[in-house]
Amino acid sequence: MTQGIAKDFSHLFSDECNSRLPSQLKTILPLFADPNLVFLGGGLPMSDYFPWDNLTVESPLPPFSSGIGAKPSGDASDTCKIEITKAEQKSQEGIDIPLSRALQYGFSHGQPEVMKFFKEHHSIIHKMNYQDWDVLATIGNTGAWESTLRIFCNRGDTILAEEFAFSSSISAAEAQGVNVFPVPLDEHGIIPSKLEEILDNWTEGAAKPKLLYTVPTGQNPTGSSLPFDRKQAIYRIAQKHDFIIVEDEPYYFLQMEKYEADPEKRVTKTYSDHNEFVENLETSFISIDTEGRVLRLDSLSKVLAPGTRFGWVVGSEAILQHFLRLQEMSIQAPSGFTQAIIAGTVNRWGQQGYLDWLIGLRHEYTAKRDFCIDTLHKYLPQVDYIKINPPIAGMFFTVNIDASKHPEFATKYESDPKKVEKAIFDKSIAAGVLVIPGNWFKADGQTTPPQPEASSKSEKPNEIFFRGTYAAVALEKMAVGLQRFGDALYEDFQLSK
Ligand code: PMP
Ligand code: PLP
Repeated sequence: MTQGIAKDFSHLFSDECNSRLPSQLKTILPLFADPNLVFLGGGLPMSDYFPWDNLTVESPLPPFSSGIGAKPSGDASDTCKIEITKAEQKSQEGIDIPLSRALQYGFSHGQPEVMKFFKEHHSIIHKMNYQDWDVLATIGNTGAWESTLRIFCNRGDTILAEEFAFSSSISAAEAQGVNVFPVPLDEHGIIPSKLEEILDNWTEGAAKPKLLYTVPTGQNPTGSSLPFDRKQAIYRIAQKHDFIIVEDEPYYFLQMEKYEADPEKRVTKTYSDHNEFVENLETSFISIDTEGRVLRLDSLSKVLAPGTRFGWVVGSEAILQHFLRLQEMSIQAPSGFTQAIIAGTVNRWGQQGYLDWLIGLRHEYTAKRDFCIDTLHKYLPQVDYIKINPPIAGMFFTVNIDASKHPEFATKYESDPKKVEKAIFDKSIAAGVLVIPGNWFKADGQTTPPQPEASSKSEKPNEIFFRGTYAAVALEKMAVGLQRFGDALYEDFQLSK
């Protein structure tokens, strides 16, 4: 069946986006490579004056048999040697970006050697249902989200987000004068019926939301993952109420098996081939999208390293051209060193080798998640009002607490769950462990005129939660921290062990 063309969503663009014209100077940059043209057109420094003649780095070699954390020995059996030269003629065509080009102006959409790899990778993992889609290099999802807001939102506009959302993403919206209206969550993420109810009862006179910002896999901060049927329902609601879905997916490859409390019954998942691994991954919003209504933000931060400052946005060409125009006037392009090293690495690993890395990552995170949840069960009070939530993706666990069960809830804390949350936070710090109060992630924007009261009513007003991570520290240290968190809860709730 032939695929259709993406719909036109230009009616959702911001005033800023509509006033941004393409940079005329950028249109001449491809001519720089024409040997028959004497290029006196742009302020490009000669690459002879770039002080780096070559770049050599080493990484582990697929299939990473000793685990992804194993240090390469330097031996050809386990070490991938990446040697990048300055001169175009000396570099490996299609694999390396010569430094003369990587470190020069140009290629704002990303260097071909790196973008070809990630476009192909995207096609292996996701199913695209319209023809005119593309990928564009970004400096990671923080920047890509900031750009998304600029492209779609004016001051005073409203967007939708998970009730508890990554605070830096909320702050980015608020800094641009955009209201972040919360959508209720349960342990599996956004509740589609609630989302629909909010939109069906949207206050007349308040501008409808243009975007839904969501972290479908291993959500930050709740750790929840949105099941496929909910994604389908949310996509239908997006069509009905005409908004764009922005899936911010830094944790997509940190998917794990369901937590099994009995260590005897735990099995380390193995895959007969790479296809089986790919088929086991969650279906993304962009794989459901038939009309270019989804923007997918992907990042290497949680997969290779945050300091790469490299990611890519996937969407319709029509929308991506506005990302390109904006980036040409802001970041220009991700760092040339980053792109040269990434291209050199992933093109030597190959698509299958990169999947080997992702499989290795999944094993590592599963082991850390299991240890973390086992340890929480060991050290936290075993009472029905303290609930440990084992995630199936991402870096975060949460512990939900019914604050009204605190012996001094009505007296000392004046029936205010936030005061209980603050007390536990302070006590945890005093005990020597830092976990983040859920309240720090609360989206609580409001429209003018406001939405009906029922639309922002909390389902469990006395429930508080804390977010912790099993990603940041080694197992022994994690155990110490979790024990201290448990001690703080025992003490604060006046429970005996
Ligand atoms: N400002 C001015 C006045 C310039 O001439 C240039 C380069 N042409 C830039 C900014 C861009 O600088 P950068 O490469 O550091 O982003
Ligand atoms: N989005 C979410 C939901 C995150 O949790 C994070 C990381 O903390 C980011 C984006 C930042 O990603 P990047 O490093 O790609 O900017």
